[in-house]
Amino acid sequence: MGDPPSTCRTLGILGGGQLGRMLSVAASRLGIKTHVFESQPDPPAGHVADAVTTASFEDEAALRTFAESVDVVTLEWENVPVEALELLEEIRPVRPGSNALCVSQDRLAEKDFLRKLGLKTARYEVVPDLAALGLAFMRLGGTSSIIKTRRLGYDGKGQARTDHYENVEDAFNDATSGDLAIIEEVVEFEREISVIAARGLDGAVVCFDPGENVHRDGILRTTTVPAQISAAQRADAALLAGKILNALDYVGVIGVELFVTKDGLLVNEIAPRVHNSGHWTQQGCSVDQFEQHVRAVAGWPLGDGSRHADVVMENLIGDDVERAPGIAAEPGASLHLYGKAETRPGRKMGHVNRVVRGS
Ligand code: ATP
Ligand code: MG
Repeated sequence: MGDPPSTCRTLGILGGGQLGRMLSVAASRLGIKTHVFESQPDPPAGHVADAVTTASFEDEAALRTFAESVDVVTLEWENVPVEALELLEEIRPVRPGSNALCVSQDRLAEKDFLRKLGLKTARYEVVPDLAALGLAFMRLGGTSSIIKTRRLGYDGKGQARTDHYENVEDAFNDATSGDLAIIEEVVEFEREISVIAARGLDGAVVCFDPGENVHRDGILRTTTVPAQISAAQRADAALLAGKILNALDYVGVIGVELFVTKDGLLVNEIAPRVHNSGHWTQQGCSVDQFEQHVRAVAGWPLGDGSRHADVVMENLIGDDVERAPGIAAEPGASLHLYGKAETRPGRKMGHVNRVVRGS
């Protein structure tokens, strides 16, 4: 093979967690080197990347040196400060760009953006302060609601449910430690699905088959493909993902979390990166979400993301990782471990993809 079909020889990745690790592995298979920028020592991606910068996302000199050492910058963590991205954007292409992060970093901006696109979401109200909370709760009908911090929530952190007016203050304090918040209705969904989609530099869009997600304690436990949804719902999921990607002029892979309800699909949130619920693609598709993302941001043609197997992905969280030796011996199971030195409750240590049967 001659030169790869792009000038991206080294990809910069902001964030060094397991997503960056799997992106680095995918990049290396395409002959592309990676340089990871991470604020914490010994990041999982650092074990497989070609270079690692350990510095704060506020360190402008480190960001500049990093940008100059790579051809394209991407990210595996959506909470990279927008100022850091803007600085990097002056030096190298950043894909996806800061506009996508501005939307996804703030639950209010995200929901407003989705509604403006004509997509459905849970009903929500902004809670600028504690004084506004009671009224917002009553406007939603005064029943089951979830208060969510507007920024920096993940794995269900920064959220609290409340059923009664008397409890709203406690829930607010549990969720937010006084930060800005939104309150949204609890959606009576039939199931949760997500669609992982990619948009190339040329504007082409490819969607993976939607996966069905089960959460426990706010953390994703399993993703199963195919999801038990109708052909029409499958088409709706792909259409709305394309709409979001085009509106953001997005380049790369995005994860769109959806609630399936009797009134159609509601968008819960978008993640401007590869997504935990897309890990099944490693064993279910010729081109998985990690390679698809690298292809998109490196300016390659998007690959074939069609599903060739039924897969159940199970996250190995905390002590679950102790089951790894047994899983490794299971027929049809592909084990992925993230190389994290310390096991902690709630920490994602790895995952297993079980191929159920060929289809
Ligand atoms: P993650 O990092 O896993 O994506 P998160 O902390 O960003 O999670 P959400 O995705 O908003 O937060 O919520 C986590 C889970 O809580 C959802 O997948 C869903 O199971 C449940 N949930 C969130 N919002 C609602 C809602 N309005 N109605 C019903 N369930 C909800
Ligand atoms: Mg979520």
